[in-house]
Amino acid sequence: MRKVGETTLILDLASLEHNYNYLRSKIDFETKFLGVVKAFAYGSDMVTIAHKLEQLGADYLAVAYVSEGILLREAGIQLPILVLHPLASNFEDLIEHHLEPSLYSRNILNQFLEAANAKKQKDYPVHIKFNTGLNRLGFSEADVNFIAEETKRNECIKIVSCFSHLAASEDKNERDFSIDQINSFKNLSSNLMDKLGYAPMRHMLNTSGIINYPEAQFEMVRSGIGLYGYGNQAEIDAELKAVATLKTIISQIHEIGANQSVGYNRAFRSSHNIKSATLPIGHADGIGRQYGKGKGVVTINNKKAPILGNVCMDMIMVDVTEIDCKEGDEAIVFGTEKSAEKFASNAGTISYEILTAISQRVKRVVTGA
Ligand SMILES: *Cc1c(COP(=O)(O)O)cnc(C)c1O
Repeated sequence: MRKVGETTLILDLASLEHNYNYLRSKIDFETKFLGVVKAFAYGSDMVTIAHKLEQLGADYLAVAYVSEGILLREAGIQLPILVLHPLASNFEDLIEHHLEPSLYSRNILNQFLEAANAKKQKDYPVHIKFNTGLNRLGFSEADVNFIAEETKRNECIKIVSCFSHLAASEDKNERDFSIDQINSFKNLSSNLMDKLGYAPMRHMLNTSGIINYPEAQFEMVRSGIGLYGYGNQAEIDAELKAVATLKTIISQIHEIGANQSVGYNRAFRSSHNIKSATLPIGHADGIGRQYGKGKGVVTINNKKAPILGNVCMDMIMVDVTEIDCKEGDEAIVFGTEKSAEKFASNAGTISYEILTAISQRVKRVVTGA
């Protein structure tokens, strides 16, 4: 794989294609596929990933916020874009960029009707979000009449889908809870369809939902993490390929004597002679302080080098005592050879967090196009 001269996130589009095809193979041919590209496409490069998904034949994209959807439209993305968490202050921008809002409360529905009427819209596509147990965003059973009545009274909107989100799709111990959520979504959506007199698409599954509850795929599924190469369980990780590989290089090597310390607050103290390597990546690049003191481990010349002491803003120091290496050699933080899930779980977090944390300062390089 490509050698780097500075801290670089290498994005392999061939891996994205592999993951897309794998996830598609888990659902029926007719089922639509929505690719989730929020948060810079899970910390990678939103525009590049969106273009590739469009080319691969994805049916929909989703972002969290209107500002993200605008970036996609400005880059020429044509696919329908669902905005999962729009706020009323952005409705004008949303309509101007043909973004499709998730409407999740009476308040937000009313405010969207106001904006769509003011802009003289007809049948503007909207998505109804139901809360079935995550208790984050969404309408409840008691709102179904209201949604149907308001939609029928106002020609400016048309419900193109209704959806919900599983709280624990990756957790086999919560199977009963997930099945309750699925059943409750079935009831809510058929109730809404009866009252509307037409049938919007229904969707509920995220990546782990696709893997664990394919019977609940309805008309569309929504996948994020799986596209980027992680499946929240080892058997699925083995089938997927990491899209992002984070690499850096050794800037300097130090010989550290016994009773010396390394880094801020002298957080690492040596009991014997060691060798440290300084790498140009720190918490400003997304390697948070929770990775310090040995929790974060990078790979240098196929050997493990744990982080010594505290993570600095722009640097980490790693232990290379047992590694034959020199200044300018490459260090792999995570990626194809070493999974981001493993890197993250060592520090008590998840792939989603480390991937989305990689800051915009880190250079992106695209391969496999
Ligand atoms: C982020 C998100 C997804 C994607 O979930 P993954 O676990 O990454 O597949 C799907 N649906 C909603 C509502 C989300 O917020």
